[in-house]
Amino acid sequence: MQPWSRYNTLFRSERYGWFLHNTLSGVMLELDESHASIAESLRDGSLPSSAEPAGFIALLEQNGFLADPGKERLKLMENRYWRNAACFSTTHLGLTICPTLSCNFACPYCFEHSQGDATVMDEGTIEALVAFIRKHGDAKHLTVRWYGGEPTLAFGIIETLTAKFIELFPDYAGAGMVTNGYLLDQEKIERLNDLKIASVQITLDGTEETHDRRRIHSNGEGTYQQIIKNIDLLMNSSWNGSCAVRVNVDRTNRHEYAVLRKELLDRYKGRNLTVYPGHVNTDDGNSCDRQCSLCNREWAAFQLDGYAIEGITPRGGLYPPSGIQNLCIATSLQGYVVGPKGELYKCWEDVGREGMVIGTVHDEQYVTNPELLVRYSIGTDPYGDSECMECKVFPVCGGGCVNRRMRVQQFGESSLEYCSSLKESLEKYLDAYMDKWHTNQICKVVLGKGRPPSMENGYRMVQPEMKMRNEVKNPLEPLTGHEQEGSGNNGAPNKTGASLLF
Ligand code: SF4
Ligand code: SF4
Repeated sequence: MQPWSRYNTLFRSERYGWFLHNTLSGVMLELDESHASIAESLRDGSLPSSAEPAGFIALLEQNGFLADPGKERLKLMENRYWRNAACFSTTHLGLTICPTLSCNFACPYCFEHSQGDATVMDEGTIEALVAFIRKHGDAKHLTVRWYGGEPTLAFGIIETLTAKFIELFPDYAGAGMVTNGYLLDQEKIERLNDLKIASVQITLDGTEETHDRRRIHSNGEGTYQQIIKNIDLLMNSSWNGSCAVRVNVDRTNRHEYAVLRKELLDRYKGRNLTVYPGHVNTDDGNSCDRQCSLCNREWAAFQLDGYAIEGITPRGGLYPPSGIQNLCIATSLQGYVVGPKGELYKCWEDVGREGMVIGTVHDEQYVTNPELLVRYSIGTDPYGDSECMECKVFPVCGGGCVNRRMRVQQFGESSLEYCSSLKESLEKYLDAYMDKWHTNQICKVVLGKGRPPSMENGYRMVQPEMKMRNEVKNPLEPLTGHEQEGSGNNGAPNKTGASLLF
């Protein structure tokens, strides 16, 4: 018999009894008391005392609960292989373009360091950017996200560049835009379809009073009403994209999220609009109180309370995802963030930081800081990190945000967290998932759509292995509205330094 897998979690839910989950295979079983006791014996290294039907042991072996550690290691290496294949793929070119770093807001927590810089991408940089794109001759597809500063302040550049992109890539589509929404008026909305902008992300910071205290126009006035007015225009337009409203959440406004979410979903019922919470990181030495951002434990509690009290399922669901998809623009060979002067970065969080520039589109060789590039791509590989390789949640975490990992491990910024909140809260997420699973089973029965798996043998499958788990999606592929919200760890920080640590 194979030994007990180090990726197992055997736990007793107060409401639903015993469960067994394995982070590597992704399988979860529900057990009755006697099978839980067998599992406990196996976990503790003793042979089960009862005459156990071979069927149960075989099930545990088939689903990775009893496993050869050497084979588990090989499985991780297989995951590493597919991760690397996606990271170093040259089929896609993914650009996050900041046509300007200037912004019409003056949010105290904003991490960008060039709010006062009114530079708008000039003709020379536009031409150099096009030449830079041409150098990526293997790329069959181009994916763009408009970012800033505030991209609507340089809408003409978006128009000019989009025309060039369509010339270069006839299938160019699926662009996204991260905007504060303030200048998204009727005229711009009417251009979105032609500009191939399929998703727009707009940020609110809570209900009107809180938002207006935090997302302040540079003239000192509140911005909530104007943003809502523009979302109304967007949702009543013929634009065929999707809008994601990101609500920045920290210790001071977390209680407002559910209220605001409901208000927005009611207001835009039937429209292509989603609302999700953004994990704000203020540990960046700015004027906002560094103590107000939620640590991973608090973020988990926020999500789990949101489910338990308000019935809000976190984006990406409650079930631990496959960490193999923990990829982003920063981990991708052909993913770049382009600043208005043509400077190149690897991550949204680096925009405006001179020391984090890896190159420029103006230089023939374009990579001018190969050391930083290597720190990002090779230095952050979680498969080279013994702590991750020993970590029980590695298969579902995938190593967290590489920007934070690099800043902590290589630049000594100890206040940042890059671990998944699953590390501390796996059982709590699984418990919440069980609640949802049981509710779904009851609904199915009531609606006559099937029966739950039987507990006749003393165990049943709650979550079988998902065959799709190891199909790694290239993070540079065009985003749909839902993906724009982020899944797992690779979401959009949206000018708040907030990556999406599950
Ligand atoms: S997850 Fe987001 S913040 Fe982290 S490295 Fe990737 S792009 Fe940057
Ligand atoms: S939780 Fe932390 S230690 Fe564990 S795999 Fe993720 S990043 Fe690595």
